[in-house]
Amino acid sequence: MLYGRRFPVTPKFKRLVAGSLKVCPVCGTLVTQAASHCFVCAWQGRFLRDPWIVGAKLAEIAATCPELTDVNPN
Ligand SMILES: [Zn+2]
Repeated sequence: MLYGRRFPVTPKFKRLVAGSLKVCPVCGTLVTQAASHCFVCAWQGRFLRDPWIVGAKLAEIAATCPELTDVNPN
């Protein structure tokens, strides 16, 4: 199991999140850093990049689809 239901905010996790994910402040959707807008609500302003917020969204997704936590990134 990769992270279980909680995603520990370690320095490695912070670097991963900073370079790849962000959260829409309007609808809470997790989107990639490369996206210019939210694919759900079309928000184009500032996104939430706090690793704790992104980690909470990842945990939410993992709770919905537990099979994802069995993926080993190494
Ligand atoms: Zn949105």
